[in-house]
Amino acid sequence: MTPIITRFAPSPTGNLHIGSARTALINFIVNQQNPLSKFYIRIEDTDKERSRSEFSQNILKGLEWLGLNWENEIQIQSKRIKRHQEIANKLLENKFAYKCICSEEKLKTQRELIKSNKNLSKKICTECKINSEVQDLKEGFVIRIKIPDDGSLKIEDKIQGNVEVLNKEIDDFILLRKDHSPTYMLSVVVDDNDLGVNFIIRGDDHLNNTFRQNYIYKYLNWNSPVYAHIPLIHGEDGSKLSKRHGAVDVLDFKEKGYLPEAIINNLILLGWSPGKENELIDINEIIEKFEITKLSKSSSIFSYKKLNFFNNYYLRNQSGLNKFLEYCKNNKKLKDLILKNENKIKTIFEVYKKDLNNFAEILDIVDVYFDKNFKLDQNEVFSDEFKSLYKDFLNSISNIDNWDRENIQNTISDFLNLKNIKFPILGKPIRFLMTNSYNGPSISDIFLILGKKDSIDRLNQYIEKN
Ligand code: GLU
Repeated sequence: MTPIITRFAPSPTGNLHIGSARTALINFIVNQQNPLSKFYIRIEDTDKERSRSEFSQNILKGLEWLGLNWENEIQIQSKRIKRHQEIANKLLENKFAYKCICSEEKLKTQRELIKSNKNLSKKICTECKINSEVQDLKEGFVIRIKIPDDGSLKIEDKIQGNVEVLNKEIDDFILLRKDHSPTYMLSVVVDDNDLGVNFIIRGDDHLNNTFRQNYIYKYLNWNSPVYAHIPLIHGEDGSKLSKRHGAVDVLDFKEKGYLPEAIINNLILLGWSPGKENELIDINEIIEKFEITKLSKSSSIFSYKKLNFFNNYYLRNQSGLNKFLEYCKNNKKLKDLILKNENKIKTIFEVYKKDLNNFAEILDIVDVYFDKNFKLDQNEVFSDEFKSLYKDFLNSISNIDNWDRENIQNTISDFLNLKNIKFPILGKPIRFLMTNSYNGPSISDIFLILGKKDSIDRLNQYIEKN
């Protein structure tokens, strides 16, 4: 088995986007499917104006949080400029590239001409390569690659299938700028080649670049990698997934209390199906079953609703409580409340987890249970039937010695039986007395969360009115 060398090559011009995380995930999976493989990270930080180290940190943290481990050494593109220059000069020496001194004005006119006549070759500079004076210059030029006008280039993409582009459609793109800085188009090929990358999995917004980049491999006699261009993900309105749709940065999902396994489960089902009835799938099963060639080539829709479904499933399972406590450690409000009463926080989580989309939803729920100055809304009016039961109920509840769920539930059902009444007559007003709301969990759960003392204190606030 030939080891597969994959890479994820983010530009640190923004935080780790959920769509990029999907690209990284697929690289990681393909890599995990092959025992001798390697998965590298390269930070493509050559755009000095827009690249920032905070973004690099954010990207790496996001990948780490998702568990997408990579090879120790991270390739930093800006540290390899000399190597990129060396290759540009080699291409120049071997006449696969040429010097160009066209002015911006001239290029602009040429661009307009190309735009207006679709049949014309895309070569923007037609004169410099045949001008020996220009080719003898020592400074003040850009280096452009030489792409033939005739013929075509075919690429077999693992997702997109066979794609063919006419050579006249490919421009003589710049390799090295006037200030000797390399372009992305050159750097990416040199860096991938030097890492030994033989499988490039990236967004299909790079498909066009592949045809350009392939010429560099060709001219240098380097082995060209296998490609898989993944379609981008869209929001439910069909447009490119962006902040307008909701959270899109991986670490924002973390902050909201989404679990990596839910995000991975949701992402992997975009354009691929494990072919089983239920859609729950963990990373090990994904690695076992995923086939990149089966990934759909049309774009898929990212659904927050589905993510919530998966997240709810994973936060409810066995390790959910520990993961929740871990989440609390990184959240100021919950961290403080844990110091006040860890058991209460745990009980709230256990009671509410069946309805939670994410851990952050707990933040609004806790207030009423931790409110030491809870004041009952005395304007609320209850039925006469409830009024006649209230004192006896308070009495029964106060008599519970061992304040656990079973005893509380038994006390309530015994009381209902004894008085021969239906639950809502008692339950609804009691829930209101405890929380100032008719909505919420069962009253036994509310009693359990509040504990005996607070429960009885709250019940005692009720002043019977006629
Ligand atoms: N740095 C590029 C980007 O963030 C990816 C380049 C590549 O995968 O070839 O879009």
